[in-house]
Amino acid sequence: MKIVILSRKASLYSTTALVDAGKARGHQVEVINPLRCYMNITSHSPSIHYKGERVEAVDAVIPRIGASITFFGCAVVRQFEMMGVYSLNESIAITRSRDKLRSLQLLSRKGIGLPVTGFASSTQFTGDLIDVVGGAPLVVKLLEGTQGIGVVLAETRHAAESVIQAFQGLNANILVQEYIKESRGTDIRCLVVGGKVVAAMRRTAGKGEFRSNIHRGGSAEPIKITPEERSTAVRAARIMGLNVCGVDLLRSNHGPVVMEVNSSPGLEGIEKATGIDIADKIIEFIEKNAKPGKTKTRGK
Ligand code: ADP
Ligand code: GLU
Repeated sequence: MKIVILSRKASLYSTTALVDAGKARGHQVEVINPLRCYMNITSHSPSIHYKGERVEAVDAVIPRIGASITFFGCAVVRQFEMMGVYSLNESIAITRSRDKLRSLQLLSRKGIGLPVTGFASSTQFTGDLIDVVGGAPLVVKLLEGTQGIGVVLAETRHAAESVIQAFQGLNANILVQEYIKESRGTDIRCLVVGGKVVAAMRRTAGKGEFRSNIHRGGSAEPIKITPEERSTAVRAARIMGLNVCGVDLLRSNHGPVVMEVNSSPGLEGIEKATGIDIADKIIEFIEKNAKPGKTKTRGK
């Protein structure tokens, strides 16, 4: 097969791992920077061009679209879809996953456990919004933050009001969320490939920190998840319409709650923590599922 990985940097761990896994399984693999692609949007022969040449005869694309390039990156994935090329994750599902509020709304409709979450645009009823989510302590999150940046723990009602007002003063969209204290600075990342959890790790926050992101100094170890956690992760991936994703769970007193579903999960942390070759499983999934013209809008 000819597989294209859409990634801004060939040297990134996840990109290299996918290239190596694809080649090891006998495929031709090419890394293309989506920001350097240009497109011809025409009815009869839509095309993608890269470095002066038309990109042709591709069997599958693996989108590794960073949050900062969601708009253009997804347009490139969509253009491949218009050309009938199979995409590992569909453009609509990636776009959907980038909006935390939209994602939580879709997951809540299907009864997935979530932290109690509030959202408002105006500062007028901040006090009531805080009551609606159960009062302090609570977590305030920038809607479009990543790697734990823009996630703040407000321990008191007064702190919560100040943080909400500060963010809103900057015209930032925010979520206000119940603080799951009992997870004690740990979360669980489940890596889902083709409707199965293929690896899971527990991330633990560094000292004096409640965010367990590895980028924020968290550490990782393999973990055995419960059947309920497994089915929550698999269902969340299906609702989002993602074939490959990282589902972040917290262990709360009322069962597993989904914090986030990531459509371009990093492979380094979880492969190193678990010793599982996830890139190989992703390529194997593509071999079984990549058929021309199969990409269509899914997810509910
Ligand atoms: P990002 O997308 O920036 O990683 P997250 O929503 O995943 O942001 O939050 C970052 C970290 O903060 C999580 O990994 C988790 O450890 C912690 N965290 C986030 N929300 C909550 C919450 N409601 N209760 C407890 N801890 C939380
Ligand atoms: N099919 C989904 C719906 O009807 C898509 C919504 C979305 O991704 O926002 O809600």
